[in-house]
Amino acid sequence: MAQKETLAIRAQAARSHNREHSVPLYLTSSFTFEDAEMGRAMFADEIEGNVYSRYSNPNVDEFIGKVCLLEGGEEGIAFASGMAAIFATFAGSLVAGDHVVASKALFGSAIQILNKIMPKWGVTTTFVDGHDLAQWDAATTDKTKFYFCESPSNPGLELTDLRALSALAKKHGVALVVDNCFATPVIQNPIELGADLVLHSATKYMDGQGRVLGGILVGRKDLIEPIRFFARHTGPAMSPFNAWVLSKSLETLFVRMRAHSENALTLAKALQGNPALAAVHYPFLETHPQYELAKQQMKYGGAILTIEVKGGFAAVNALTQHLEIASISPNLGDTRTILTHPASTTHSKLTKEERAEVGITDGLVRVAVGLEAIDDLIADFTQALAKINA
Ligand SMILES: *Cc1c(COP(=O)(O)O)cnc(C)c1O
Repeated sequence: MAQKETLAIRAQAARSHNREHSVPLYLTSSFTFEDAEMGRAMFADEIEGNVYSRYSNPNVDEFIGKVCLLEGGEEGIAFASGMAAIFATFAGSLVAGDHVVASKALFGSAIQILNKIMPKWGVTTTFVDGHDLAQWDAATTDKTKFYFCESPSNPGLELTDLRALSALAKKHGVALVVDNCFATPVIQNPIELGADLVLHSATKYMDGQGRVLGGILVGRKDLIEPIRFFARHTGPAMSPFNAWVLSKSLETLFVRMRAHSENALTLAKALQGNPALAAVHYPFLETHPQYELAKQQMKYGGAILTIEVKGGFAAVNALTQHLEIASISPNLGDTRTILTHPASTTHSKLTKEERAEVGITDGLVRVAVGLEAIDDLIADFTQALAKINA
């Protein structure tokens, strides 16, 4: 089989009779049957094929197929957003009485699902420090069905040792679910490290240009089946248009992630020691507490770094006013560099104590480093940081 970088570019839906080079957009809500017998047989699952775009669509299937190849998943399901993928994974698989162990360092809405929504159906979660394997072990009960983590986490950039955690999961008969949004399959393949399910907010690096929302889940067929049933009947489907955009974007994923990572490492090094900053965090900086693990588990450092601005929210606000290139937005995963202040936006629904536990201080700023010329980015941050206390 060709290398993944080649597959990301060459794998595509079957050509139509028009022999097009780029895959057409199948904007159709349903598909036709040649006769009633064909419709009956398709609904009875006796023959395969497209029926209705809530179930399947050529563009959506192309996107799923490509991510399965890149992540090494047996099967997959695409969703309207990353959160729809996360919710369907839990809601489609778990029943009252089931239990989840999850890292505390999760995307804000993922914590809300596990803390506030799943308990309505009797599914409970114990949150642990993701880097501490003993806590995962101690929190596991005979009701535990899933382990769930992000590595690196958003926004704390905390890593989980995926090989070690998957070994523990196997020992307990638990499935390991990894949100691989920050790393992307270019940087890290959780399934190769032993994970059972991998999900993504495709909104981020899979699109990579800040245009469409999407989510994707891939992994073990037996685990995907009940989630497919849930998705088919509850309708969080990805739109064909978004799938078409995302499939096209995957063609440049490898080039983009290498360039993002190079820019991020260079910017992180340039900002280290800046007098306006208390700290710079990036997995491939030697000062990162899990630098050794990062080097082992990740091919590149990724696009995201965080900075701790001295002087809390007021200083962060001043920084955002002085920056001339970087955008201020709650998104990440764009060609354009984006700054986010998690404490007042994505993680504002957590208490100050909950934020502190995952390293989200009032001065913490997430920088999703884009693909602009690195000298321009360094100059922009340097001039803006110099003006904070001026
Ligand atoms: C953005 C994000 C999500 C949510 O994805 P949406 O596409 O916005 O629904 C989930 N996990 C991580 C790590 C994210 O960064």
